[in-house]
Amino acid sequence: MIDAHCDALWKMWSKRVSFFNREELTVNYHALKNSPIKLQCFAIYIPESIPQKDKFGVALEMVELFYSEIIDKCEEIVQIKNKNDLLALAPDEIGAMLTLEGLDAIGNDMHKLDKLLSLGVRMVGLTWNYKNAVSAGVLDELDTGLSVFGENVVRKLNEEKIWIDLAHISYQGFFDTLKLAKHPIVSHANVYSITGHKRNLDDHQIKALMNQNGWIGLTYVKEFVSDDDKVSIEDFCKHMIYLIDYGAGDSIGIGSDFDGADLYVQELTSPEDFTSLLSRMKELLPINICNKIAYENFIRKFPT
Ligand SMILES: [Zn+2]
Repeated sequence: MIDAHCDALWKMWSKRVSFFNREELTVNYHALKNSPIKLQCFAIYIPESIPQKDKFGVALEMVELFYSEIIDKCEEIVQIKNKNDLLALAPDEIGAMLTLEGLDAIGNDMHKLDKLLSLGVRMVGLTWNYKNAVSAGVLDELDTGLSVFGENVVRKLNEEKIWIDLAHISYQGFFDTLKLAKHPIVSHANVYSITGHKRNLDDHQIKALMNQNGWIGLTYVKEFVSDDDKVSIEDFCKHMIYLIDYGAGDSIGIGSDFDGADLYVQELTSPEDFTSLLSRMKELLPINICNKIAYENFIRKFPT
């Protein structure tokens, strides 16, 4: 399986813990080894509390952690920089891809984006929840959409064959970006018409993404799945079935958001639990659809 989003790097940075720490990290070396995960994306997320002048430096520190703690120390974990790397993984290897959650750290400096791409970032979220030089975010009162600088960023990411992640962008920014983006993705979100969370995607957004060859990673975060007190794997599967019925079976996968939230679907709280999800999916869906969601859709759409 492929998991398009986790915040383990942020936790490793903020709590000063190693990738081998099972107590503090949901996505850690041991859990990944015991899971059916073949590719784990690791997001650089810079907390809002970091002053603007320090954000780029913190991003570089998280890049350093990705290499020193994950790539260098774990023999079976291999960095993924392109589709061929992913296809070349040996049976006992696990891929790790560096991603960025929000371009706040670059300010309006394209050279800083170049630097992050040269360091291996292969998926770039344009915003987190609030406005930056690129676009308004999903929680902004005033939705100013994608900026002129943002248009240039999108063109740059197209040229460099980088996924463009719309997970936290504003509604207008979402559609502005889709007009230009060659490789759009929403790494962690669910269906708005089932659970009215502001970050979930409505039918217009789902359809627009499908039309642009985009991909959606369904997330295990409780509040995105259901408003109920107890949220089960069945509630999670409702989002998946809805999207398949909507015609999006070729455009979906998983983006757990582990280590980025406090509460998850009851049965889906660790990378090892991808096994339970896969079993339940096999009961509900034909095997060819299960495989598409587990990994094929993501691989097929990987920018080349
Ligand atoms: Zn997020």
